[in-house]
Amino acid sequence: MEPIGAYIHIPFCVKKCPYCDFYSLPLNEELVSAYVFSLCKNIKDLSRVYEREIDSIYFGGGTPNLIGVDNIGRILDAVHCGFKVLNPEITVEINPSAHTNIDFRKLKNTGVNRLSIGMQSINDNELFNLGRRHNSHDIKQTLYKAKNAGFYNISLDVMLALPNQKDEDLINSLSFCVENNLPHVSAYLLKIEKNTDFYKIKNILPLPDEERTADLYLLASDYLTSRGYEHYEISNFCRKGMESRHNLKYWNCDEYLGFGSSAHSFMNGKRFYYPRSIEKFIENPVYVMDSTGGDTKEFCMLRLRLAEGIKNEEYKQRFGENIPDIYYDRARKYVDSGLVSVDESGINLTPRGFLVSNALVVDIIY
Ligand code: SF4
Repeated sequence: MEPIGAYIHIPFCVKKCPYCDFYSLPLNEELVSAYVFSLCKNIKDLSRVYEREIDSIYFGGGTPNLIGVDNIGRILDAVHCGFKVLNPEITVEINPSAHTNIDFRKLKNTGVNRLSIGMQSINDNELFNLGRRHNSHDIKQTLYKAKNAGFYNISLDVMLALPNQKDEDLINSLSFCVENNLPHVSAYLLKIEKNTDFYKIKNILPLPDEERTADLYLLASDYLTSRGYEHYEISNFCRKGMESRHNLKYWNCDEYLGFGSSAHSFMNGKRFYYPRSIEKFIENPVYVMDSTGGDTKEFCMLRLRLAEGIKNEEYKQRFGENIPDIYYDRARKYVDSGLVSVDESGINLTPRGFLVSNALVVDIIY
């Protein structure tokens, strides 16, 4: 059996950003202790149900660094105690506003070997407009301290299609990633989600229209790929071999276990999650069954997020048959317009195709 991934959700933030709909609460030390205790117990309990090997651990949030390095170490000890952990990729999301409070060397000693830093932009005006608490100085300090402590596997987040974003604003952020020789960049479009402060003012936000959004996305793709990065997933770029092992599990339709409030799992063909309530999780974590998963359509939908697309060989290995001819027929309609590539090895979307991936996936697969 293939090793699985472990996702650990840390639902605390100093302040809610106006565009964010991830589950997070204001930091509260008492709640942190109770939550970490429950997480460790939850890990132990699920390790008895799923006796599987783990090769990636991902601390996401919220702001995982807020719980402190000792608590991250405690949670990792619980994972090592319950599961067999094989040469793991261990990622922690880092908020640049917190660099003065993070002991990066100590963090490295816990076994964490990958950082995902929520830069979003290197331009102070953009960070201010996004309601972020950090500035460009904090980003540089975070990177300096992390590298000094021996972290080299670092990803930076860059947001695209920000209000009034100019080409040069975006290039500033991307060139910062390139100049610092970062092996991984997540470049994703700002989405205005319901239940956020930005949603309430969406009509007056100077957001780029569809055409301008497409230009910014393709600019990011061209800029990074012409500088040696692979555009390996809709929103992700990396130097050769530096893909996020953990996130690849989601897109490859592989199995993972999620621990903590709002964390999702996919195991044994079933998708389930813990509700967005820290109180319920601390009191008695009971997951909610979501749906079955991993069928042919879901596999294809997820794989089309990857530049590699759906490979016939893998499809055959997993489902015992070739990719259905009808998928090929439908995909071929988009080849001339440069949205899709089709050959005997399989089907994949191009960067232009990624921009309209939802519509293409629906048409090709469903
Ligand atoms: S964007 Fe990050 S720091 Fe801001 S509220 Fe969301 S999880 Fe917290």
